[in-house]
Amino acid sequence: MKKLTYLALSMFSISIFAQEVPQERVKTILSTLASDEMKGREIGTPENENAAHYIAALFKENKLEYCTGNSYLIPFEYKGQKAYNVCGIKKGISDQYLGFSGHFDHIGTSNKSGDNIYNGADDDASGITTLVGIADYFKNKKPQFSMVFMAFNGEEKGMLGSKAISEDKNLDKIYNKMTALFNFEMVATESQWGKNALYMTGDGFSDLDELFNKNAANGLTIKPDPYAEQQLFYRSDNVSFVKKKIIAHSFSTVDMTKASHYHHENDDVTIVDFNNMTQIINNFGKTLDQLNPKNFAPKYNDKVTFN
Ligand SMILES: [Zn+2]
Repeated sequence: MKKLTYLALSMFSISIFAQEVPQERVKTILSTLASDEMKGREIGTPENENAAHYIAALFKENKLEYCTGNSYLIPFEYKGQKAYNVCGIKKGISDQYLGFSGHFDHIGTSNKSGDNIYNGADDDASGITTLVGIADYFKNKKPQFSMVFMAFNGEEKGMLGSKAISEDKNLDKIYNKMTALFNFEMVATESQWGKNALYMTGDGFSDLDELFNKNAANGLTIKPDPYAEQQLFYRSDNVSFVKKKIIAHSFSTVDMTKASHYHHENDDVTIVDFNNMTQIINNFGKTLDQLNPKNFAPKYNDKVTFN
């Protein structure tokens, strides 16, 4: 009888506390963002705005709070019109924040006959799906760190969205308490080290990777940037936050020596390894369960340049 009760109880707790993000969910989000209906999500188009609203709806499902004002959509000016970044907050036990970001815009359509849509499944629907997946993981759970989720717009036109939101004074209350920003950029494929691994740009500039790997769940590993000479650290959305001296790196799985889909029409869902992505999202969640302001306070060294 006792045994039975224990078994029943443990099954009960599994069903209550299991936070695994299902692969189907990952597939739905990424496929929606990378669908032909989104026409490549170019900034300034109605489809770009549709993508912003879709991400806001996902943030709402995950019970995130607004970062500022009364909407997840934070406007900035693009060619005399309004364009939007999307921002949501999850309050944790500590009021120190970890940030999770990616860019939802891509490069629209080409004049080619046949497939002329740049679906941007890897670049960067995969990054947005990863940050939404992490929010999913903590939907019914209080994380150690507070979390801010930011979907940037206008990256492909020169990192416009991340620049605008990083300079938004209404968000200083978050930025002043930001321990680190994880910017996900092209995480749809298996890395050159295999599954369950990503590389971090600018790994030589901070100890974030060492501290993360020390606490990483289920073998998830952050590797050094194999393309350090390309200076990717200074060429992605994280740089807007580096300028504010916030620890901010980009994380990727893409093998730049092999990626024939980069900025091509064939960057669509057929190249996505959903199994690997789902594993990475859930292992990120489990790792974040282990991190707190005491064991995770990464610092820059003197090799980094802030402007
Ligand atoms: Zn990109």
